[in-house]
Amino acid sequence: ERINIAIDGPAGAGKSTVARSVAEALGYIYIDTGAMYRAVTWSAREAGLDIENDEAVTAHARKLDIRLAPGPDGQVVLLGGEDVTSRIRSRDINLHVSRVAAIDGVRIRLVEMQRALASAKGVVMDGRDIGSHVLPDAELKVYLTASVQERARRRHLEAGDALGISLEQMEREIEERDRKDMGRAVSPLLQADDAVLLDSTGIPADEVVSRIREMALE
Ligand code: C5P
Repeated sequence: ERINIAIDGPAGAGKSTVARSVAEALGYIYIDTGAMYRAVTWSAREAGLDIENDEAVTAHARKLDIRLAPGPDGQVVLLGGEDVTSRIRSRDINLHVSRVAAIDGVRIRLVEMQRALASAKGVVMDGRDIGSHVLPDAELKVYLTASVQERARRRHLEAGDALGISLEQMEREIEERDRKDMGRAVSPLLQADDAVLLDSTGIPADEVVSRIREMALE
């Protein structure tokens, strides 16, 4: 019996690494919803839109052809057929994505896509509002977190040099993004009532993966 698994949590908690491995182990499909908000943000910035203009960004998001496809290093993000996977990981996108993700019209469009992708079950979806809003009926919900110091350290190891910022700056920017994601009016980042809290501070990713696998197989 295939189930759906929701993995939510703050920035840099290791959701994508863990979600991808869990999906691989179970033969499930991995869906990174953050990549969708990043793709909309990248495209809106590329088009020169004012991201404070909800109507303009919503209209833009509705026209976009966003596709997620499996690639050699995980999920590939295609915008109108163009591979934008690495471009959506820039610091500019990190700094602006939470504003775009707070726009109701953008969320309505992306949540609709996310629900359609999960309709056949067998999906591991990571994000901020998956257990609480996108897939309230997911059979397993995990709220994955870690101390902000550890989350910044992991992100810095991953991409720090590429982003050109110090560890301290990374920590500040992660905290700022969490604050915006938790504080927005529509489906903010929160732990669903029936989600299992997993604090991965000091726990290696493979250990986190096997705990989630065990819960999925129970
Ligand atoms: O997961 P990632 O850090 O790539 O997500 C980027 C941003 O997209 C988050 O900071 C948040 O603003 C937004 N997001 C969201 N809801 C989701 C997934 C991501 O609002 N389900």
